[in-house]
Amino acid sequence: MTTTTNTDTKTDLKSLTKRELQSFCEELGLQSYRSDQIFQWLYQKGVSSFDEMTNLSKDLRSRLADLATVNRIEKVHHQQSKDGTMKFLFELQDEEKHKVESVLIPDFFPDGAPNRLTVCVSSQVGCVFGCSFCATGKMGFFRNLTHGEIVDQVQYINELCLEKYDKQVTNIVYMGMGEPLHNYQSVVESAAILTDEHGLDLSPKRITVSTVGLTKQIKKLAEERQPFNLAISLHAANDEKRDEIMPINNSMNLEQLKEAVTYYYHQLHRPITYEYLLFDEFNDTVEDARELAEIVHWVPSKVNIIMYNDVAGVKLKRAREQRLDQFMQELISHDVTATVRRSRGDDIDAGCGQLAIKEGQKGKTISKN
Ligand code: SF4
Repeated sequence: MTTTTNTDTKTDLKSLTKRELQSFCEELGLQSYRSDQIFQWLYQKGVSSFDEMTNLSKDLRSRLADLATVNRIEKVHHQQSKDGTMKFLFELQDEEKHKVESVLIPDFFPDGAPNRLTVCVSSQVGCVFGCSFCATGKMGFFRNLTHGEIVDQVQYINELCLEKYDKQVTNIVYMGMGEPLHNYQSVVESAAILTDEHGLDLSPKRITVSTVGLTKQIKKLAEERQPFNLAISLHAANDEKRDEIMPINNSMNLEQLKEAVTYYYHQLHRPITYEYLLFDEFNDTVEDARELAEIVHWVPSKVNIIMYNDVAGVKLKRAREQRLDQFMQELISHDVTATVRRSRGDDIDAGCGQLAIKEGQKGKTISKN
């Protein structure tokens, strides 16, 4: 794949996979270690110009500048919550100046030192799946991000973490704008860069990719033995309720999801995490908890019960504490490993898509395939 910038015919090096970067260097007659050096400058050191690649000769830097560019997303805005959560709005280097959001969720030890520094990244501008509770789903869909644009979000926030906490980002979750497995290639490639020893060198165990349940792609992850964790955004435990809030369930229902998840587990022997937003008087009854327990026992799995951040214009609301307690008790009585996740950053539009919508980004609807 040779992808070019929007402004001219130069190759954007960050749109190339590692293998494609090697071929690009081979075509220039460069020795193979040069490609590793360039990869390192792009993804470990996060430079945005060839002049900064100081271990390349001046002549080579100028040849590269004639043929290629290094695109980098730009931060346009950020907000910090009282609980330390930071939300970023980035502008992409395209003609439309599309914007995407990322979130840094820091956890601290009792003495105030940083523990986990989790980055939630976007994989698409907007989303085609239109889940009824989701701000991004209301925008429509614009385009997929390249793997370089996904890695850039992490790189930018990683630099900030090093400055602010003297510590590198520890965990990545693909749970921002967009459906990650609908942009399969870029997501897989970006995760490979984040775990590459010449990239950010993160453990694949620290990376989680979420999906609303794209069954074909779940099986593909298993066939390719992709090493990161899988999370499934479930949010309802029977087809009737899931159909109501997640249109994807009309074409890929829970029976099909069960088949894909079982296949995934038998290939990789890796447990699944289910994400379950708890909505008031919609999916928070004892019967819902029983149905959820059945799903969690399809294969070894756990569930995160998430207290919803209310979104303007959405009828579904955050469940009440008393119903949460009942729900959790029922899950525990069915031997389910369940954790309650409190929404972070309620005071800063931290629900995915809220900030981009505020900035006036509205899209179109296209095919879900
Ligand atoms: S929840 Fe995920 S898949 Fe559903 S509309 Fe939002 S971004 Fe898309």
